[in-house]
Amino acid sequence: MATYTAPINDMMFLFEKLRDNPHYNSLKKYKEVNPELAKDILEQAAKLTENLVLPLAKAGDETPAKLENGIVRTPPGYKEVYKKFIEGGWTSLSCDPEYGGQGMPKTISAFFDEMLSSASLSFKLYSELSIGAYNCIFHHGTDSIKKKYLPNMVKGIWSGTMCLTEPVCGTDLGLLKTKAAEQTDGTYKLTGQKIFITSGDHDLTENIIHLVLARASDSPAGTKGISLFLVPKIQVKEDGSLGSRNGVSTGSIESKMGIKGSATCVLNFDEATGYIVGPKNKGLSSMFTMMNLERIVVGIQGLGISEIAYQNALKYSKERKQGKSNNSKSANGADVIIDHADIRRSLLNMKSMIEGERALSFWLAQQTEVSLHHNNNKIKQEASDLVSLMTPVVKSLFTDMGMEITSDAMQIFGGYGYTKDQGIEQLYRDNRITPIYEGTNSVQAIDLVFRKLINKNGNIIGNYIQLIKKDIEESKKRDETKLFTEVLNQYLMVLINFTTWIEKSMKNSKDDVSAACNDYLRVLGLVAVGHAWLKVLDISYKEMKSNKKFFEDKIETAKFFFDRTLPRIDTYYKSGISGSKNIMNFKFN
Ligand SMILES: Cc1cc2nc3c(=O)[nH]c(=O)nc-3n(C[C@H](O)[C@H](O)[C@H](O)COP(=O)(O)OP(=O)(O)OC[C@H]3O[C@@H](n4cnc5c(N)ncnc54)[C@H](O)[C@@H]3O)c2cc1C
Repeated sequence: MATYTAPINDMMFLFEKLRDNPHYNSLKKYKEVNPELAKDILEQAAKLTENLVLPLAKAGDETPAKLENGIVRTPPGYKEVYKKFIEGGWTSLSCDPEYGGQGMPKTISAFFDEMLSSASLSFKLYSELSIGAYNCIFHHGTDSIKKKYLPNMVKGIWSGTMCLTEPVCGTDLGLLKTKAAEQTDGTYKLTGQKIFITSGDHDLTENIIHLVLARASDSPAGTKGISLFLVPKIQVKEDGSLGSRNGVSTGSIESKMGIKGSATCVLNFDEATGYIVGPKNKGLSSMFTMMNLERIVVGIQGLGISEIAYQNALKYSKERKQGKSNNSKSANGADVIIDHADIRRSLLNMKSMIEGERALSFWLAQQTEVSLHHNNNKIKQEASDLVSLMTPVVKSLFTDMGMEITSDAMQIFGGYGYTKDQGIEQLYRDNRITPIYEGTNSVQAIDLVFRKLINKNGNIIGNYIQLIKKDIEESKKRDETKLFTEVLNQYLMVLINFTTWIEKSMKNSKDDVSAACNDYLRVLGLVAVGHAWLKVLDISYKEMKSNKKFFEDKIETAKFFFDRTLPRIDTYYKSGISGSKNIMNFKFN
């Protein structure tokens, strides 16, 4: 089984030293969330994830969730741990105190998301979609809906789902067929089928609150006719107690490559009673509140799985002896594989990416909080635009790198990595869904390039580039960071050129742009991680004396990223600007 130790030191370093967004720091809401409190929460979270959640990973893989006589049963141990999970108040961590939440910021809850993803993604998913549903109801529900449903969701005794996908549509939701017929009392009756619904049914909670996209009988076709409905599995009476079973049933659950402990359900809605959430025909934009926050969390899933893969590869490489290294000192016998340059390269590739991603997601967590809670609308909007720019980047880059890192970790284990004993191949399989769900990574790249670079508020990518430039100018003043700033500046120029190319090509050939989307996303993503590293470097040099070992480690890790990872940008750029003619003219037989 894979082992795991939560990287609290790195998380606390970010929380203490990189909370550098003045707008975030001015939020009154979080003025009491100090490093002592953060450390306390993270230590409790580490105990939970290392001791209780981690063993569920293997249990869920070996004994997947199953459907028995219409009831979904979670794998052995899930119920017991979930009980402790909600008793510890973990479902309420980031929820609003008005509904019983602890009101913690994303600068803390994102670390918890990472720990849970490392320990067991399958187990995490049972509460993750609930938080998504909570967010959606919190932002779009009426007061009476919020009062009726949110407190029990926050407590974790009810959970939530997100029901978008149907047999005919995943990406293109405009095609959806689920119907909602309005009743005289203002409620709706929903009929249709949803597929691939995470935690669509299970035995962990008393009730499940489904958020369902459907088309009202008098609504137009396409995306402009979609509304959002709240459909409880069990009806909730006016006094809040549970009533009769609603018309939702589980048709089947999927047999999958990974995350086998998570129940992925086909849900049949048969005249199920639903309550509209948000304005009629604006369901997609209401659902996007949930999806955008959720996409960042999916990126963090990739980060969490990368972390546990790296930890295990590192440990194994210090134990496994094979061959002599170039500088071998052992007279006879073999050296541990961590002495080989190529293994060291692979480990550093993982470590530098993981720590850079964590720093970037911490930056994004601060921006997200500002975008949600700042009282100055202009500042709020600017933060919101940056979050919207970086959401597809974090979702795609982190999950794609999760594939590279889990694959490389498996490689370090050699044949033992491919067999089941070490738990490494499971990480690869579990991570494989992350580039697919919550909108595939290619669709994220399309969204980034066609919708996020420039919007009605202006040139978002231009503002982001200016922000990086400003930090580069600051860092340049320090001798120690000069070399790093030169490299980052060189690749920032590539990003600028690529952006100009995109803008021009948008007018000439949309296929050129579409074919370049993934390359562009990677260029932007790597520059963003480089920018996050630059912030880490600034602190590391400044604070070197306070913790030499920790900060030297940071600097040496960053060197790898700047020397070996950032240059990937050249290839992405060249590939991206090569156009689409050959691609579009090719005749597939
Ligand atoms: C384990 C699991 C859990 C899931 N959980 C949920 C859930 O809780 N709720 C929910 O609603 N859904 C869920 N899903 C569904 C998931 O979000 C979809 O599978 C995903 O969005 C892709 O949709 P699709 O499978 O229909 O693929 P399609 O949309 O058919 O896409 C097929 C391929 O075409 C590409 N493509 C599509 N459109 C374009 C385009 N315009 N340009 C270029 N390429 C394009 C895609 O990138 C993809 O590679 C889950 C799926 C799985 C497997």
